[in-house]
Amino acid sequence: MPHSPSSGQLAAGEREDAQVSRLLTWLSATAIAFLVGIGTKAWFAGHTTHAWVLWSFIGLIAVNMLHFASTGNRARQKAGMIVIVGLLFTYLIASGGESNTGPLWFYVFPPLLFYLTDLKTGTAVLLFCYLIAVVVFQFPGLPLVSAEYSMDFKIRFFAALTFESIFCFVLEASRLKARNELLALAETHEHAARTDELTGLANRRDMQNRLTMEFSRYQRSGHHFSIALIDLDLFKQINDQFGHDAGDDVLREFAALMRTVIRQADVAARWGGEEFLVLLPDTSLLQALTLAERLRSQVAGHPFRFRDQSLPVTISAGVCSIAKARSLDDLLKQADLNLYNAKESGRNRIAPRVRSQEKESSPIRSP
Ligand code: GH3
Ligand code: MG
Ligand code: MG
Repeated sequence: MPHSPSSGQLAAGEREDAQVSRLLTWLSATAIAFLVGIGTKAWFAGHTTHAWVLWSFIGLIAVNMLHFASTGNRARQKAGMIVIVGLLFTYLIASGGESNTGPLWFYVFPPLLFYLTDLKTGTAVLLFCYLIAVVVFQFPGLPLVSAEYSMDFKIRFFAALTFESIFCFVLEASRLKARNELLALAETHEHAARTDELTGLANRRDMQNRLTMEFSRYQRSGHHFSIALIDLDLFKQINDQFGHDAGDDVLREFAALMRTVIRQADVAARWGGEEFLVLLPDTSLLQALTLAERLRSQVAGHPFRFRDQSLPVTISAGVCSIAKARSLDDLLKQADLNLYNAKESGRNRIAPRVRSQEKESSPIRSP
């Protein structure tokens, strides 16, 4: 099944990218310091061309760093670094560097490459670099190639590089596997911590967080919102008469029905037992009452069944808008009081009651 990355995975990916960028900046600075030192040593040893080539790589690395500093483009920073390091190693192999030790720097490449890119790209780039090394070793007469290596050196160079590359690949693959398993596990736990197991709706804790966020939004930018506190009527009787499993079934089915009635932006949660809370952002009291009434009438008309028995399910709800409350606590208290009034006045109803002329002027909420 195709798996799209979750928000948790995206956040982790963003953190890792930022970490890679910091490391690359640090590596670039270190590489510049090394190139200055090795270039100076070559200069004083009389290898002036070698010194100039090494120093020109300082320029390339500096350009890459400056480009990243001005654009913040991490993908280009990575690609730039890989190309520069690849070119530098090719030059070191072709020229032999100081006393034919140039190819030894190649051992830095596999771990860096697998850290910076994915396994596929890393392997492809590494194979390409192998190919360059083979060509340089095999054809010492090519233009720009000035080094010649003994057969013993070539065999050991490739054998050691192959082992190193395989180990780097395996280590990176297992690091990635462990990382992905850990992220998936964290995601599962995070989801379980904010979901009600029976209905799949948000749980009370999640709803409390969302209410707090919505209330801050209201305080910041004046966006009104309403809530509906819904309670299943005489639910104890359903349990007593048809059994606890029938009760559980009703809770699940009611949750599913409620999902079809609310908008995508609304949030329904199991507030506790047979009580549910719906958060309706950007919704006035009248609009919230209209929605609660629609839900009430759909529940009343819905054929709830358990093992071929018909179950008498109705709901009562207390609605309140933030415009009528002083605080979040007050909002919940008023919704609870309205729910109590709905129960007191006979159940299967919504409170407060809407006067008919108000109902007619109530704007329709966008679906
Ligand atoms: P009212 O109309 O006044 O709300 O009456 P009620 O019977 O619905 O209210 P009461 O508070 O007396 O009973 C609630 C019942 O809900 C009691 C409890 O066993 C049942 N209940 C709570 N959670 C669950 C659950 O997860 N599954 C089942 N099957 N029943 C539950
Ligand atoms: Mg009840
Ligand atoms: Mg109750």
